Parts: sequence; C-alpha cells; structure tokens
Amino acid sequence: MRLADPASLAEDHFDHVVVGSGFGAAFFTRKLLETRPGKVLIVEWGQHHPHDWQIANSRNSAITAASTYRSANPKPWNYTIALGGGTNCWFAQAPRFHPSDFRLNSLYGVGDDWPIDYAALEPYYAEAEAIMAVSGDPDMAAIMPRSTPYPQPPHRLTSPDRLMKAAQPERHFAMPTARARVATEQRGACCASFTCMRCPADAKFTANNGLMPLFDDPRVTVALGCKAHHYEGAGNSISALVFEHGGKPVRVTGDLFVLGANAIQSPAILQRSSMGGGLTGKGLHESLGSHVEVLLDGLDSLDGSTITTGLNYGLYDGAFRKDHGAALVYFENRWTHGLRSEKGRWRQTLPLMIVTEDLLQDANAVTVDGAGQAVVSFSDASDYAHRGQKAAFAALPKLLAPLPVEDIVFRSMRDTESHLQGTLRMGNDPARSVIDAGMIHHRWRNLAVVGSAAFASCSCANPSLTVAALSLRAAAML
Ligand SMILES: Cc1cc2nc3c(=O)[nH]c(=O)nc-3n(C[C@H](O)[C@H](O)[C@H](O)COP(=O)(O)OP(=O)(O)OC[C@H]3O[C@@H](n4cnc5c(N)ncnc54)[C@H](O)[C@@H]3O)c2cc1C
Ligand code: SF4
Repeated sequence: MRLADPASLAEDHFDHVVVGSGFGAAFFTRKLLETRPGKVLIVEWGQHHPHDWQIANSRNSAITAASTYRSANPKPWNYTIALGGGTNCWFAQAPRFHPSDFRLNSLYGVGDDWPIDYAALEPYYAEAEAIMAVSGDPDMAAIMPRSTPYPQPPHRLTSPDRLMKAAQPERHFAMPTARARVATEQRGACCASFTCMRCPADAKFTANNGLMPLFDDPRVTVALGCKAHHYEGAGNSISALVFEHGGKPVRVTGDLFVLGANAIQSPAILQRSSMGGGLTGKGLHESLGSHVEVLLDGLDSLDGSTITTGLNYGLYDGAFRKDHGAALVYFENRWTHGLRSEKGRWRQTLPLMIVTEDLLQDANAVTVDGAGQAVVSFSDASDYAHRGQKAAFAALPKLLAPLPVEDIVFRSMRDTESHLQGTLRMGNDPARSVIDAGMIHHRWRNLAVVGSAAFASCSCANPSLTVAALSLRAAAML
C-alpha cells in the first residue's frame, strides 16, 4: 500500500479525491480505476488494522463510533472508523433489496421511490456478489430475478429451515451471505463459530481479505489518520478538500471528489463546508428489529452451517405496506436466548429476528455543532415501522405452521440494526433529494456521494450489498 505522509500532500493535485474506504468508497474506487483511470487519493480517518490485530485486540478499530458524534438519545449508531470501514465489523449478511423496495411510493403511496429500479441495479448486484463470493440460494430468483447464479452454494439449513422451505419454497430461502460456504484463496470456510464482528476463521469478506489489491494499486495513495473536514467550491464545482492530520489542516485539490464517509459523517462534512441545506442530513433511519424465541416441540435445531441460515419473505410484500412496514424474518442458528434446560430438549429452540422497514422522517437528522462535530437528533422509528413489528409478531403462528411449535415468546426489541442510512438521499427531484440517479450531488456536479447515506427508502434487508452495487453502477456510469 502506498501510504502517504499526510503533511507532505499539502497542495497536491489528484484526479480523484476519495473520502473514506468502506463499502461505498472502496467499491466505487475499484470500478473507477477501470472506467476513469487516474491518480487517486483515499483520505481515511482511521488506521489500517489487519485481521490479526483485530482478533488480538477484540475490536475493529482504535476509535469508537460513539466518540465521533453526539446524541441526546441513548440509541447507538454503530460503525467502524478504519481502513475498510464497515467491511471490518459487518456480519456479512448479504441479501439484495426486493424489487418493490425501489417503488414504495408508486406501489403503496408511502415514502419515496428510488430514481432507479431493481432491473437497473441487477447487473451490479451480480458483480458485487462475485467480488465478495456471496453464498446464496438459487431459488431466491423467484422473488429477486438474477442474471447469474450465486458465486457460492447455499449454507446448510437447520432442521426448522428445511421444514419451512419444503412448505414455502417460494418464500423461505437459505440466507445470502458473504460468509464463505467453501474456502476461497483468501478466506476459510465458515464454521459457525458465531463471532462474526471478528471472524476467527477469516471466512467473511472484509477489506483485509478482499480489497487489499485496491489499496495496493500503484495509482492509489492512502492517507491514514486523516479526518476529512470540509470542501471548498464555487459555482457548481468542488475544487479542494481540507482534512485534519495531527491537529493541522492539509489541503488537496482534485477533479472528481467522492464522499463515502458514512451516513452520519458524510452529511457533517457537507455541513462543515456550508454545502448543506435542503434534505442534507435529514432522514437518518434504519430498520427496526426484535428478538423472538420459538420453543420447538420435539424438533432439534442449531444444525446449520453458519450463524443465520434462513430468511423468510412471507411477510414482505403486499398491499399492507400502505399501512405498515414489510417484515423479514431471520432464522438463527445460534442460541441467542440460551439452550433449553429440559432434559433431552436443549436444542429445541429457534431464535428469530423480525426486521421491519422504517419510513424516512426529516426530523431524525444529523447536524454539526459550533465545533463542527456531528450531532444526531433521533426520536424514534416511525409508527409505520412499529405497526409492522406488531403485525409481523401477530402473523407468526400462521407463518410458522410448518413447524412443531410449543410457544412463541417475544424476547426484546433490538436497540439497533447497525445500519445508519438515508441522510443524503437519492432522487430525481432536487427538492426531495440530495443526489441524483448517478449519485452525483444535485448542485456540486463533480461530487459523487456513495454509501448508505444515499438510500431513498429503508428496505428490511441488510444494506451493504446494495451499497456496493450502487457504487459499482455509479462509477460505471461516469
Ligand atoms: C456490527 C455491525 C454489523 C453489521 N453487519 C452487517 C451485515 O451483516 N450486513 C450488512 O449488509 N451490513 C452490515 N452492517 C452495516 C454496514 O457496515 C454498513 O451498511 C456499511 O458499512 C455502510 O457503508 P458506507 O460506505 O456507507 O460506510 P462505511 O463502510 O462505514 O465506510 C465509511 C468510511 O468512511 C471513513 N470516515 C468516516 N468519516 C470520515 C472522515 N471525516 N474523514 C475520512 N474518513 C472518514 C470510515 O473510517 C470508513 O472507512 C453492520 C454494521 C455493524 C456496525
Ligand atoms: S459464523 Fe464464525 S466462521 Fe462464520 S463468519 Fe461468523 S465468525 Fe466467521
């Protein structure tokens, strides 16, 4: 990796100046080097923490997320400040978004439509899945059409998953995941050890095992420990980025600027640049989750090959989305609520996670304080999301009819899904969005904004595969 002494970069000029190195920034830059090769500077706030460092130190970064923003609400917003961003800490759940997620307003009259649809993103989903060697269930093409097979075979289902899939073949699938089903040249096979924030087997896709060729590319200079502070620009064009290193400002100039901090830090950078206004920073959201335990009657579980084995779409799409949020039901292969204490029944437990979509609310927002620090104002998920949770829980007896169920026990709401989204949303109308269908800022025409900040609606599905696919598409379209 060509690591720069940040102070020596002052007044240097680059073709492309990229902020951040997580899912959005890294996948965009990888494609950019194919479509518009040039001299790239990656400005990254964190350090490079190799896999061994993360395992030895039981953390993904030396910087905690909580130290990088202020909020009066105890709800945590989790992310990793380090080379590779969220690729370090993610659990590698990698479903695509459902085609209806992109058309929420035109189909159901709530939220906003995206400026692109599923078909436009499909080839880039396939490319992102290939880069990450995603394991998945070919039957999923019934709901989410595919141009290519999943790169890796599906993980082994648990016994409850197998019964569900036999009864609901078009709704119950093996979980799509970038946790390797079979070993690759860079990664071991997932062995269901359940500590996915730091995988001891190095089975999940991360920057350390999948993106180092990008950071090692001779055209790429990486500046670590550099916090992007603000942009300079005039008219409709950005001319320079100022970042902080060791408490001192360093200014670099460029032609194309790529903003891929995260959904809290990216809007903060624009606001520190006096490039906010409109919906900048507004609409911070994530899906809403709960824990449920199904007590099984005579059926042993926990015999799958990875941490989450099944994904059920039975409560996902339909006219009900006019009133309440879609729900995805995750079938877990871990003993989240402990094992059963009754003799001979210790594995007769099936932990589920119910995840419902939220609607973007402008009042949930990111601003900056007088010192320029990001400030999160978040009250709660929408009533739409909470109604979705209630409806999904009520529907579980019917959904789980293929299983021998003794009891269904609500355990708790989850305090976060670790999926900050939506603060620089995409759209065709500049009055209702910040960036366009090509992820270019509506006003600053040489600024591409990448990452989950761009989401125009909140799918129930985990976001990172979609972040990667959006970046590949945007860079291909430049
Ligand atoms: C514990 C955990 C588990 C998760 N599991 C999953 C999962 O299983 N599946 C899934 O799809 N998603 C998962 N996620 C979410 C996933 O991490 C995010 O969706 C994804 O990382 C978002 O991509 P991004 O590019 O927007 O941001 P990031 O990947 O966070 O990248 C942002 C980058 O910007 C850098 N940065 C921030 N501010 C600055 C600044 N001012 N200057 C310079 N650099 C800056 C950061 O260090 C980082 O490199 C998980 C997240 C967490 C925390
Ligand atoms: S289940 Fe275990 S082996 Fe598989 S990705 Fe998670 S930590 Fe790694």
